[in-house]
Amino acid sequence: MTTSLEEFGLFINGKSVAAGAGGTFESENPYSGTPWARLADGRPEDVDEAVAAARTAFEGEWGRMTGFQRSAVIRRCGDAIAANAERLARLEVNDSGKLLREMRGQLTSLPQWYYYFAGLADKVEGRTVPPVNPNYFGYTQREPVGVVGAITPWNSPLLLLTFKLAPALAAGCTMVVKPSEHSPASTVAFAEILHEAGLPAGVLNVVTGWDRATGEALAAHPGLDKIAFTGSTATGAKIAQAAGANINRVTLELGGKSPQIVFPDADLDAAANGLVAGVFAATGQTCMAGSRLIVHADVHDALVEKVAARAEAIVLGDPTETATEMGPVANRPQYEKVLGYLRGAADEGATFASGGGPDERGGLFVRPTVITGVTPENTVVREEVFGPVLAAYTFTDEDEALKLANDTPYGLAGAVWTKDVHRAHRVAAGLRAGTVWINAYRVIAPNMPFGGFGSSGIGRENGVDAINEYTENKSVFVELTGGTRDPFQLG
Ligand code: NAD
Repeated sequence: MTTSLEEFGLFINGKSVAAGAGGTFESENPYSGTPWARLADGRPEDVDEAVAAARTAFEGEWGRMTGFQRSAVIRRCGDAIAANAERLARLEVNDSGKLLREMRGQLTSLPQWYYYFAGLADKVEGRTVPPVNPNYFGYTQREPVGVVGAITPWNSPLLLLTFKLAPALAAGCTMVVKPSEHSPASTVAFAEILHEAGLPAGVLNVVTGWDRATGEALAAHPGLDKIAFTGSTATGAKIAQAAGANINRVTLELGGKSPQIVFPDADLDAAANGLVAGVFAATGQTCMAGSRLIVHADVHDALVEKVAARAEAIVLGDPTETATEMGPVANRPQYEKVLGYLRGAADEGATFASGGGPDERGGLFVRPTVITGVTPENTVVREEVFGPVLAAYTFTDEDEALKLANDTPYGLAGAVWTKDVHRAHRVAAGLRAGTVWINAYRVIAPNMPFGGFGSSGIGRENGVDAINEYTENKSVFVELTGGTRDPFQLG
C-alpha cells in the first residue's frame, strides 16, 4: 500500500534531498486514519547542513540584495502562493484534517502577508539622531538579525510560518524551518514553490523529522541568530532556554485560554455566532480559541441555549466536503487529550449543555461541547484544551468580569460583546491580552500585531513592528572635527 504515498524530501539549499541517514516517516490523514505521505526523517546532522546553507545564503546573493530587490522577490513569492493555493490547501487538509474551506481561505489570503511585507522591505530605515556632543554626528541603521530557526505547530503550518517568514525576508534574513512531525508536508512543498518563484537557494530551508531531537537540534543550534517559535507554552519554555544558552533572540507565540465576555445588552445571536467561530471553528485547535465564556448571569441561560443549539447542529464530517463545518481532531494524542479534559470536567461536577465526548461516527471526531456549572478553579477553565470545548460561567458586574477574564496565566486574545461603546473600550483596555475583539472574534490581518501577554509568548508577529523582531538596531557615531580627544574620557 505504501507505494501510493506522496514523497517529500528535505529542502536544503534550493534542492530536495533525502535525509543524511536515509530514514523516512509517514504522515497520517486524521480523517481517513491512513498514511498519505512519506517524509524524509531529518536528523541533527541535516539541521547542521540546513543552517550552513542558510548562513551561506545570508552572506551571499540574498544578503547583498537591496530592500528594493528583496521586495520584488517577496512579491513574486506572493504570486506563486496565490497560483498554488489549492494544492497547498489540500496538502494541509491531508495532514491536519482541517476543513478544506478554511484552508482554502487561509491559503488564498496568505499572499497578502507577502505583499504587505514586500511593501516594507524597501522601507527598513534608520534615523539620524540629534547630537549631544556637536563633534559627533549620529545615525542608526537596521540590519538583518541573520539566520533564523523557525519551529511551527500542526494547526495551520503555512499561516504560522508566514507570520515569521514574510517579515524575516523583508528584513533580509534567511531561515531554516522545522515543521511539526504531525503536519510536515505542506511546508516542504511551499519552500519548493517559493524557490521556483525566485527565492534564492538557501534562503528558506526545511528539515522535517519525526523525532523531537530534530527540533531540539535546531533550537540549540549555535549557528542561528534567532529562533521564532509557535507551539505550546511548555515547549516554548524549552526553546527559550535553548536560545538563552546561545544568547539568541527569540519570539514565542504560545498557548491561550482566551475569554469572551458577554454583557446583557449584547446582541446574543451575534455573540453566539462569535462563540462558535471562537471555539468550534478549526475544531477548536487554534491558539486564539475563545474557550472561556464569561457571561452576565441575566443572559447566561439564553446564551448557553443558543450556543448549545448551534453546537448540536454543527455538521461533522469529511473535511474536503463544502458542507462540513467541523473536521476531526488532528491527531490521536490530541484526541486523547481532549477526551481526558471532558472526563475531568465531568469528575469535577460540570454539566454538558451540548456534546461531552466522542462523536458516534468514530475516528478522531469529538462532539462540539458546551460546559456549564464550572467555577474559575476548574481544570477545564484554567488549562488549554485545544479542542472544541467551551466552558461557561457567570459574572454580575464589569469589575468582576474583568477579574475573571484576567485570572489566567495566558494573555493571547479576548473579546467583549456589548452595544455600549463606553464599556466596550473600557473592557478592551482592561483585558490583559495581545488581541481584543469588540463584537467579533477570530479576525487577523497582516498589518495588525499578533502575540501574547504572560505565558502566551514573547514578542509580536505581523504589523510594521514585526520587522524590528528580525533586525538589529546599529548606532553609528561619526567624528566631525578631525581633531584628537582625551583618550581617557568617555566621549
Ligand atoms: P508543540 O509545542 O508540541 O510542538 C510545536 C513544535 O515544536 C513542533 O514542531 C514540535 O516538533 C516542536 N518541538 C517539540 N518539542 C520540542 C523541543 N524540545 N525543542 C524544539 N522543538 C520542539 O505544540 P503543538 O502540539 O504542535 O501545537 C499546539 C500548541 O501550539 C498549542 O498549545 C497552541 O496553543 C499553540 N499554538 C500557538 C499559536 C500562537 O500563535 N500563539 C498558534 C498555534 C498554536
